[in-house]
Amino acid sequence: MKSVGKFSWLHYSSHEVMVGDIGFGGNNPVRLQSMTNTATADVEATVRQSKLIFDAGADLVRITARNIAEAVCLSDIRKELNSDGYSKPLSADIHFNPAIAVEAARRVEKIRINPGNFVNLFPGKLSFSNEEYKNELDEIHKITTPLIAVCREYGTSVRIGINGGSLSKRIIDRYGNTPQAMVESALEFIDIFRSDNFHKLVVSIKASEVLATIHANRLLAQAFVEKGYSYPIHLGVTEAGEGEDGRIKSAAGIGVLLIDGVGDTIRVSLTESPEKEIPVAQKIVASALKNRSQKDVARRFYEKVFPFKHYLNEAEKASNEKPVTGNRSRLPEVPLQIDLLRSNFEQSYNKPMAIVWEPELQSVIDFAIVAGSFFADGCGNAIRVDTKNDATSYYETALSLLQTTGRLITKAAFTSCPSCGRTTFDIEKILKQVKEQFASFTGVQFAVMGCIVNGPGEMEGARYGILGSKPNHVDIYFNGQPVLKGIHQDKAVAELKKLVDENEKK
Ligand code: SF4
Repeated sequence: MKSVGKFSWLHYSSHEVMVGDIGFGGNNPVRLQSMTNTATADVEATVRQSKLIFDAGADLVRITARNIAEAVCLSDIRKELNSDGYSKPLSADIHFNPAIAVEAARRVEKIRINPGNFVNLFPGKLSFSNEEYKNELDEIHKITTPLIAVCREYGTSVRIGINGGSLSKRIIDRYGNTPQAMVESALEFIDIFRSDNFHKLVVSIKASEVLATIHANRLLAQAFVEKGYSYPIHLGVTEAGEGEDGRIKSAAGIGVLLIDGVGDTIRVSLTESPEKEIPVAQKIVASALKNRSQKDVARRFYEKVFPFKHYLNEAEKASNEKPVTGNRSRLPEVPLQIDLLRSNFEQSYNKPMAIVWEPELQSVIDFAIVAGSFFADGCGNAIRVDTKNDATSYYETALSLLQTTGRLITKAAFTSCPSCGRTTFDIEKILKQVKEQFASFTGVQFAVMGCIVNGPGEMEGARYGILGSKPNHVDIYFNGQPVLKGIHQDKAVAELKKLVDENEKK
């Protein structure tokens, strides 16, 4: 491992990996992608939706393959898209079953595997001896070898896609459920592929928490530089939700990394039609490029602010006063520019500071990225909105950003997955109903997830959850456990309300 500086994650430089005819990483622009949420076996619908996503400007479309039959459908989807002139790459999303990955790798340009559920040699086991740990890793290697051979033969690239909500029990036992654990999980799989001399890899670490996403990806870039690796990094925040909240969360989680030069391809996960994700992704990339931080300014800032876990400025720590929004602040004010904010913080070290946002000049995405970066790093003590218009909605946006970056909780929190081919109920409608019904439960976290396969892990931390279980039906969860099963979607919110009333009024 080469010895590198403490801040080598800043302006991380990747090499190019070709996915079909499209280069990811290296000097290529940040690539945009989304995922279909049609049933994969419905080839016509999946082709139609893939075209909408490509037409919106995506460089790649991902499609779930839950079984061999769906993997086989990928050939028809690829063929139909090709015959209509859509040649950009497809990626198959694989969980749980390496045999499906092998089948899909013959049919599309890229596969995504999830190290958290790729192989489970000891089902139900929570603690692992060193020998068991090694045995499972050996088994992963054995099972991965035929997949690598197929990928090599067909020129298929692989995304090693870590998800904070579905880490393996083995990794959690050794590293906890932490950003470090996500990085170690990625490195284990990368090293298996490397030992077979396979390098067409893209790597992602996603979490539904913005801070965990930021810290894990900085750690990942740092680990890559230390090891002399340069794989492209795919960014995203899982379960970002919908509407402005989803956009703020995505802009903060993704844009904060991009302004420091980390990230080669992004997927914005919204609980909306997937083609709607692409314009948001375009805005995030454009804003991040415009707001990029200079490396020397960032470096001086991160000499004082620890970049890999939650840091909180001394002013807030000492006073125990949370950031405020509005004109009440008499703090020194700094315009919404990342290098100005960082330089000011570094020069008047740890002094309180207010950020001034001019919404007529700076978009919500600009605000979410720049102020989001500063708040996520535990700096900044107030937001003042400088506008000739009514500032009410802007202060709402500011409160959402403070909540997203963990600095001030003033609302209920809503987590929802973007849905995919595993979703068999109207998740968008149910999410809207849940948000309307429970908005006033400050600090309580609600989740609406498309399936009970990955949903329970990915909604970790939510007090209440509605998860799709079978067509048009859901299960209702309380503190991570299913308490009502097989509820028709039309009755789901009313049933959840009864549960919330029972538990939140006590
Ligand atoms: S939770 Fe289930 S339905 Fe939602 S995106 Fe993940 S796999 Fe798809």
